[in-house]
Amino acid sequence: MNKPHVSGKRKVVVVGAGTVGSTFCYALAQSGLADEIVLIDQNADLARGQALDLAHGQPFFPTVSIRVGDPSDYADAQAIVITAGTAQRPGQSRLDLLQRNAAIVGQIAGDVAAQDSAGVMIVVTNPVDILTHVALRRSGWERGRVIGSGTVLDSARFRHLLSRHCGVDVHNVHAYILGEHGDSELAAWSMTHVAGMPIDEYCPMCGRCEDWAAERSRIEQEVRDSAYHIIDYKGTTCFAVGLALVRIVAATLRHENSVLTVSTLLDGEFGLRDVCLSVPCIVSAGGVEKIIESRLPKDEFESLSASAALLKEALGRLDG
Ligand code: NAD
Repeated sequence: MNKPHVSGKRKVVVVGAGTVGSTFCYALAQSGLADEIVLIDQNADLARGQALDLAHGQPFFPTVSIRVGDPSDYADAQAIVITAGTAQRPGQSRLDLLQRNAAIVGQIAGDVAAQDSAGVMIVVTNPVDILTHVALRRSGWERGRVIGSGTVLDSARFRHLLSRHCGVDVHNVHAYILGEHGDSELAAWSMTHVAGMPIDEYCPMCGRCEDWAAERSRIEQEVRDSAYHIIDYKGTTCFAVGLALVRIVAATLRHENSVLTVSTLLDGEFGLRDVCLSVPCIVSAGGVEKIIESRLPKDEFESLSASAALLKEALGRLDG
């Protein structure tokens, strides 16, 4: 059972006021979901500047308080979003970031736990799956309350590409990317639906492409490479991830029971344990309330297992 959620004002603390943290704050403020947004960064001037810049938008936002905070703010926060760390640079894989960011996220998770918060911790810093594991262990919290943003962003990229390919509104495309938020992630084609139809039934009826098998692998590869392309073009990714974070935080603040592919610790689900990765989860006030353990076809199950093995190996390297 997850720790009960403390009611009251909707307070979100964002640790890391850099590109991702500040973009998330901007989107969150516009959403009207939060009563209070608190920014923390080791670069105090950056946090102050971002908070001021955002606060000057208050006449244009739904009512929200925006300010700089400190670790005592974790105590009554409903969501603590960790974006602190070093960003991925051109040519650098997410796993390369591991050592540096593990120390940062571990320390923040320890500080959050020390405040005895009843909220949900959402890890965004990469490599997000391993750092979710680090934060979970360091906090000592029950597993559902420490979530990684996982493949919520990748699933959005997947839906966008399918929508463009099929010529169907993205809101009528349901599709998930599972596994690592990174190179070993996989498209769950068995769960992919367009206009309510499984994609394998929809495709022959649609007739828009000649070689669906080739298109499938092209789309899956493009999802995987998306972050690399954006980083090559502009050095960072921020807008879609900011919106993905609003989606996750909304599910917790509004007790939504939304199905989202957040990164969560598996304990036997999908035949896997002791690894955090993304699978469809019901997300609500207590974080991950339930893992949806659907039956995957053999190829998808094998890809998920391979992704888990890679993450476990990286975690082992960190521990070693
Ligand atoms: P950034 O460099 O712009 O911001 C990071 C901020 O963290 C900086 O302002 C830095 O001062 C701060 N920071 C570092 N150590 C800290 C500490 N101990 N306490 C408080 N603040 C600290 O980087 P960014 O572009 O905002 O990216 C942040 C992280 O998010 C990176 O790890 C990046 O790879 C990751 N990211 C994840 C996703 C995802 O889907 N999970 C998507 C995009 C980026």
